[in-house]
Amino acid sequence: MPPVEREVLEADVLFVGGGPASLAGALHLANLVRQHDENVAATGSGRALGEVQIVVIEKGSEIGMHSLSGAVLDPRALRELMPDFETQGFPHEGAVRADSVHFLTERGQFKFPITPPPLRNHGNYIISLHKVTRWLATKVEAAGVNVFAGFPGAEILYDGARVVGVRTGDRGLDKRGEAKSNFEPGIDIRARVTVLGEGPRGNLTKQLLPRLELDRDSLPQIYSTGVKELWKLAPGSLAGGRVIHTLGWPTPNDMWGGGFAYDMAGDLISLGYVTGLDYKHPETDPHMLFQKWKTHPFIARLLAGGEMIAYGAKTISEGGYYTMPRMYADGVLLVGESAGLLNAMRLKGVHLAMKSGMLAAETLLDALTKGDASAEVLRGYQERFERSWAHDELYRVRNFRQGYANGLVPGLMHTGVQMLTGGRGLFDRRRIDADYTHMRTRAQLGGTQPPPPIALDEKLTFKKLTDVYLSGTAHEEDQPCHLRIADFDICNNRCTAEYGNPCQHFCPASVYEMAEKTPGRRELVVNFTNCVHCKTCDIMDPYQIIQWVTPEGGGGPNYVNL
Ligand code: SF4
Repeated sequence: MPPVEREVLEADVLFVGGGPASLAGALHLANLVRQHDENVAATGSGRALGEVQIVVIEKGSEIGMHSLSGAVLDPRALRELMPDFETQGFPHEGAVRADSVHFLTERGQFKFPITPPPLRNHGNYIISLHKVTRWLATKVEAAGVNVFAGFPGAEILYDGARVVGVRTGDRGLDKRGEAKSNFEPGIDIRARVTVLGEGPRGNLTKQLLPRLELDRDSLPQIYSTGVKELWKLAPGSLAGGRVIHTLGWPTPNDMWGGGFAYDMAGDLISLGYVTGLDYKHPETDPHMLFQKWKTHPFIARLLAGGEMIAYGAKTISEGGYYTMPRMYADGVLLVGESAGLLNAMRLKGVHLAMKSGMLAAETLLDALTKGDASAEVLRGYQERFERSWAHDELYRVRNFRQGYANGLVPGLMHTGVQMLTGGRGLFDRRRIDADYTHMRTRAQLGGTQPPPPIALDEKLTFKKLTDVYLSGTAHEEDQPCHLRIADFDICNNRCTAEYGNPCQHFCPASVYEMAEKTPGRRELVVNFTNCVHCKTCDIMDPYQIIQWVTPEGGGGPNYVNL
C-alpha cells in the first residue's frame, strides 16, 4: 500500500489500554492536575498547568469488553484513589465472607484445615473486572479525560530512543492488506509521555522492551493461561461471598495449575482454571483441563441445574518481582502487567495495577510541571514504586512462582521456606526460562502421553467453539490475519513431526486447525476470527514464529460480567 497521510492528535499524556492500571492512572493524574492548579491559584506560587490533554485508548469495542479476571479485589489501591468508593457506586458482587482451599484427587477432595494467609480474602470484594473498568471509565471521563475505545495501539512512534507516541491501527484493509472503500488510516497520537498499560504480553510492550533493553537485567517473564466461564444458577442457590480455590487434579503433579469458583450477585458463579505455561507436553490443553476440572464431583455439585452463559480466556504474567523490566525510559512508562505487576501467590494483580497507575500519575505531574519527560524525571516512577507497599508486597513473594518449575510438591515446600525467610526461600533469584523452552518434542518425551481428553457433553463440559460463541468474539472477516506466522513450512512440516502442532491444543479458542486442504496432506489453517486475544500462542509457539498483532479496532471478545 502506498504511504498515506495520517491525522495527528497531540496529547500531553497517552495511556494505552483501558484496564485498571491506565484508568486509575488517568483519574489520579486528572485529580492531581486539578489540585495543583487550585493550589497555584490559592497561593499565587508556581505555574498553573491549565488544560492538560490526557487520552486513554482501548482496542476493545468499549471499555471493559476485553477486561477479564477472576476476580477478588484487594481494595487498598482503590481506597487510596477514591476513599469514598463504596458510596460512589463501586460495582461489586459481594464482600468475601468465606474462603476455602481444597486439594482434589480424581474423585475426592481434602479441605485445608486453615486457609493459607495469602489466600485469605476477608475485607476483599468479588468483582467483575468488566463492570469495574466500565465504572472507572465513567469517573475518568467525568474528570475530563478523553477515552477512545476501538483504537488499538499498533506501533510505537520514536524519535531516536525517545518514545513520542503511538500509531493506532488502520481500518478498512482487506485480507491482502489492500485498502477497501471504507479505508481509514490509523492516527498518530503524539504525546509528551506514553504510558503502556496493555495487560499481559502487550504487542507494544513486546516491541519496546528489547529495543530499549528495558528487560536486560530481568529474568524472562513466565505466564499461565486462565480459562473462565460464568454460570447462571437457580434462584437462591448461592449464599454469596464464597471464595473457593483448588489445587491438584486434573493438573499433573509436575505442572502448575489450579481452579477457582467465586459466588457473584444475581445467582451467578464465576469459575475458572489456570494452567502454568512452563509445561513439557505439547498436547497440554488449558481449555481441556478446565473442562475436566468441572467434572470433579466437588465442582460439578456447585453447578448442578445451572447454565453456562459466558466464556473468556487470558494469560497471566506470573514471574513476579525478578521478571519486572525497568519501568521507565525517555517519554514512556510501563504500568500494570506491562511492567509484570502481579502477585501469583495471592492470585491478584488488579490492586497492583491500580497502584502502579497512581504512582505513574504522581511522576507524570512532576514531568508536566517541570516540562521535562526525560528518563531522568520519569525515573521518579521507579523510585516511587520502590518506596511503595506494592514493591514490598511483590518483594516478599519474589521467588514464589519459580519454585513450582519442578512441580507441585517441591513448589509447596519451597513456598513454606519462603514464608519463613521473608521471600528468600532456598535459592534467591532462582533462574527461570521462557515458557516455550520447557516444551519437549515427541522424541524427547519417548512416547509418554499427557492425561487423555474427556468426551464433552455440551451440558457441563463444552467444546472450544461453543465457549467461543459465548465470549461474544467478533472480527471483520475481510482483514489481514492478526496472527502473523513467519514460516508456514515450519508449521506444516517440522512442527508436525517434532511437536505435533501444539497450537491446536494450547489455543483456547480453536483458532489453529490442521486441515486436509489437499488429499493426504494436513496444513495449518488459522481461524483468526475466533481469537479471544489471550496471547497464549505468541508466548508458547515452540519456534517463536507466531506474532500476535492488533486486528482492526473493536474486534475481539465482548466480555460482559467477566
Ligand atoms: Fe489466544 Fe492466540 Fe488463540 Fe488468539 S489465536 S485465542 S491469542 S492462543
